[in-house]
Amino acid sequence: MGSKYKCALCGEEITKYFNPMKEWKIEGVLCGDCYSKKISEFYPGDHTRIN
Ligand SMILES: [Zn+2]
Repeated sequence: MGSKYKCALCGEEITKYFNPMKEWKIEGVLCGDCYSKKISEFYPGDHTRIN
């Protein structure tokens, strides 16, 4: 019932959570920081700007 989630990686309580991609093999949800970290781990160099 609570609106609080815990980041599966850093354990921080988060109110805005992100669903990890299936290939990351992570159970639960991620905070924004860990999510973007994972993104750059899995998709290095894929940070060109998008129009
Ligand atoms: Zn986190």
